[in-house]
Amino acid sequence: MTDRAPQPVDRQLPTEESRDLLALVREIAQREIRPVAADEEDAGKFPRAIFTLLSEAGLLGLPYAGEHGGGEQPYEVYLQVLEELAAARLTVGLGVSVHSLACHGLAGYGTEEQQKAHLPAMLGGGLLGAYCLSEPASGSDAASLTTKAVREGDDWIITGTKAWITHGGVADFYTVLARTGGEGPKGITAFLVPGDAQGLTAAVPEKKMGMKGSPTAQLHFDGVRVPDTRRIGEEGQGFTIALAALDAGRLGIAACAIGVAQAALDEALTYALDRKQFGHPIADFQGLRFMLADMATKIEAGRALYLAAARLRDAGKPFSRQAAMAKLFCTDAAMAVTTDAVQILGGYGYTADFPVERLMREAKVLQIVEGTNQIQRMVIARHLAGPESH
Ligand SMILES: Cc1cc2nc3c(=O)[nH]c(=O)nc-3n(C[C@H](O)[C@H](O)[C@H](O)COP(=O)(O)OP(=O)(O)OC[C@H]3O[C@@H](n4cnc5c(N)ncnc54)[C@H](O)[C@@H]3O)c2cc1C
Repeated sequence: MTDRAPQPVDRQLPTEESRDLLALVREIAQREIRPVAADEEDAGKFPRAIFTLLSEAGLLGLPYAGEHGGGEQPYEVYLQVLEELAAARLTVGLGVSVHSLACHGLAGYGTEEQQKAHLPAMLGGGLLGAYCLSEPASGSDAASLTTKAVREGDDWIITGTKAWITHGGVADFYTVLARTGGEGPKGITAFLVPGDAQGLTAAVPEKKMGMKGSPTAQLHFDGVRVPDTRRIGEEGQGFTIALAALDAGRLGIAACAIGVAQAALDEALTYALDRKQFGHPIADFQGLRFMLADMATKIEAGRALYLAAARLRDAGKPFSRQAAMAKLFCTDAAMAVTTDAVQILGGYGYTADFPVERLMREAKVLQIVEGTNQIQRMVIARHLAGPESH
């Protein structure tokens, strides 16, 4: 097994503060996250203590405003933090991205009162969040969701089942999209539900191909009562809130994908320089040198694409099309790069003695979550064809 620490990525960062931040994240990743990643993923162990540590270090609220405990970092910095965390362990990088997704609704659409009451604990008080949009029969067609919220006096009663929820059963709060009106996107409202709400139960986590340390579970809402003060935004505004979060979240997935791909390239390169066949390091053979060159090029291109989208967002410009492109390109790149990394390690790449087979299994899920890559192509094509197209 190779234990050489990967060389730091040569990053473009806007300030001295952001360079220090990335150095801190790399240190935490190398010291606390990377060394236990393989064993804990193998054992399916959720690294709750790591999330507590990240919260204490101010890394769970990075892209949010400082007045409620956020880190006030631009997306171009936040995403590079996610990339470093995901390179060390996807369960952590993706977990931070999902937590951020769960905070997005309240931070963007909550009242001042709600933000004051909840955001400090969510952004830096040790709480961990989850985002509940998908259901067993409503995945890509998310606007067809059927979980219901019915008004009863000053409360809402939520009933239904959410599916595939990252941090399902371990989260302290859930941002939940539920139907309060008629069919379609306009009948959906967002709620902030505490993790210990009565009537809320989590199923046994799914047995997944990868990211086994990250619990993914169905959540059952059996008449869960939440006060109207936990409604986020207006009645019927939930789908808009959900999609806005997903635009930002897709950039998080893109950054995580590049982290996974970078980790695979680092492993493949280290191995290829060391392993000898025919009297030479296999890195001397042009067949592999060209593979390594293609892998590195995909990674650089993906990083440039997600950063371009992030900089649009940071400048307050529309970035939805570019976010979909970044998610599509970076996750396909991660799948290709991790598959090639397994090839470069030959038979050893196919064993659990080296991390590349795990990275390949992890890359796969990134082509599926937060809108499959088919859905990203639909989003991009819709933007190209204009707002009236489907
Ligand atoms: C590990 C994991 C974690 C997840 N975490 C969360 C979470 O935290 N919160 C949450 O809400 N959800 C989460 N999800 C759910 C995820 O977002 C959905 O799996 C995804 O949106 C796809 O939905 P589906 O699985 O129902 O597939 P389906 O929508 O049934 O799609 C099946 C296939 O059909 C394709 N397809 C569907 N419609 C079209 C179309 N119009 N054109 C072309 N192809 C199409 C899809 O691309 C896919 O290949 C998670 C999923 C996984 C696997």
